[in-house]
Amino acid sequence: MPISVVTGGSGFLGSHLTDRLLKEGHEVIAVDSLLTGNERNLDHLRTEKRFRFLRHDVTKFIAVEGPVDFVFHFASPASPIDYLELPIQTLKVGSLGTHNALGLAKAKGATFLLASTSECYGDPLVHPQKEEYWGNVNPIGPRGVYDEAKRFAEAMTMAYHRFHKVNTKIVRIFNTYGPRMRLRDGRVVPAFVGQALRGEPMTVFGEGKQTRSFCFVSDLIDGIYRLSQADFHEPVNIGNPLELTIMEFAERIRRLTGSQSSIVKKPLPVDDPQQRQPDITRAKKVLGWEPKILLEDGLRETIQWFQANLNSPGRA
Ligand code: UDP
Repeated sequence: MPISVVTGGSGFLGSHLTDRLLKEGHEVIAVDSLLTGNERNLDHLRTEKRFRFLRHDVTKFIAVEGPVDFVFHFASPASPIDYLELPIQTLKVGSLGTHNALGLAKAKGATFLLASTSECYGDPLVHPQKEEYWGNVNPIGPRGVYDEAKRFAEAMTMAYHRFHKVNTKIVRIFNTYGPRMRLRDGRVVPAFVGQALRGEPMTVFGEGKQTRSFCFVSDLIDGIYRLSQADFHEPVNIGNPLELTIMEFAERIRRLTGSQSSIVKKPLPVDDPQQRQPDITRAKKVLGWEPKILLEDGLRETIQWFQANLNSPGRA
């Protein structure tokens, strides 16, 4: 039975990945400081014998006894609001945390998979974004703490691959949505769905002309699982190429929730990327992967989940 360590295991993606690994027959050790993760995302695994939770900040040495076959490094604040509030922690988990997670993989002879990000492309001047594009990132802007930490993490991962021969993989994750996102994490899906369900104004930043492409979480996790099994070490984009403006997206959510909410414009955050769409040619070729879930279906499931959790204090 393969043994996997998932850092950030109680976060949105980490907890879904943990579920998938358990389904694939793995034993899973989830490691999380609970800084932005939520233990409730793992509540359903309390009686699962192949699952363990370790409360630990991975910017400190990660001690795990016994063999480990995979290290999935998913720990990081991940919403713009979180990394603006936690700039040093974001830099530390992307740098020191990645170093420790790589060190664990090296010591155990484990495969390592880094959760990287479309933010590596910054405010891209190439569209759609291919893995070969080096990006347009402002290192000293407020988002730089996340973007540069992840870019450093990729550099460190390739160095461990080239120098220490660790079997590493890098996934560049594009905007993803689904159940278990924090209601108030500030990202656009929980923000719009929460506002629409409460009948509050929906806050579109700027003119809402900026674009994003949204992938449902089950599709994303499937791509990541496939990458963990593939013999491929360069970064791979995983995301859904369906691109919408943020205004169109607000309107879709309003329609799907049947909400009467108004749409109000708020200032555009500094360095907010103007357009984003993954080129998934590589994922198709190397992993035989492409997203399957239609936006409307994914949004319906997400809205249902938010509706059920709207007044749950532990979900804020
Ligand atoms: N956004 C918005 N209203 C909100 C939250 C976000 O218009 O209440 C916009 C934001 O400016 C960005 C897009 O939605 O252009 C996606 O933002 P998110 O925070 O989800 O993630 P990003 O893709 O910027 O990392």
